[in-house]
Amino acid sequence: MEKTLIILKPSAVQRNLIGEVTSRFERKGLRLAGTKMMQLNDAILDIHYAHLKEKPFFDKVKQSMKATPVIVQCWEGIDAARVVRNLIGKTNGREAQTGTIRGDFAVSSQENIVHASDSAQSAAIELKRFFRDDEIFEYKLLALPNLYASDEL
Ligand code: ADP
Repeated sequence: MEKTLIILKPSAVQRNLIGEVTSRFERKGLRLAGTKMMQLNDAILDIHYAHLKEKPFFDKVKQSMKATPVIVQCWEGIDAARVVRNLIGKTNGREAQTGTIRGDFAVSSQENIVHASDSAQSAAIELKRFFRDDEIFEYKLLALPNLYASDEL
């Protein structure tokens, strides 16, 4: 099954939304395969946000991501990357649909609560960036038959 990376950003930590946001992934039916708190630094953020390097807001985004430790999580499910992107909504919280995480909790592009990998390919790379192999756990979700049809598994 597919795995994807979520980062609960300093905006989630400061606003006490760690439980609320985590619970949305749980309630959807994803399996938590890894989670930890970590302090991000320029070395990891320069790689993680390399696609934003030329943007005028690059330094501010990095500052914002270093403001407090973050929670990184690995979630697993069929099409997990797409499922999670649908759950978080558009980048700008003001444009994100109500019912999505950003739509419900964010009013900003920068302070938008969560990062999620944008595809299965990015997720594979990003998970290696934030987790060691022994921090990702394989165990069977007992609710699997209640989450998927047998021919989907
Ligand atoms: P996403 O996080 O939705 O995949 P991007 O990869 O384009 O979006 O951007 C990464 C992060 O950079 C965003 O989550 C947000 O924190 C920040 N960001 C993106 N666009 C802007 C912007 N116009 N102004 C300020 N910060 C931005």
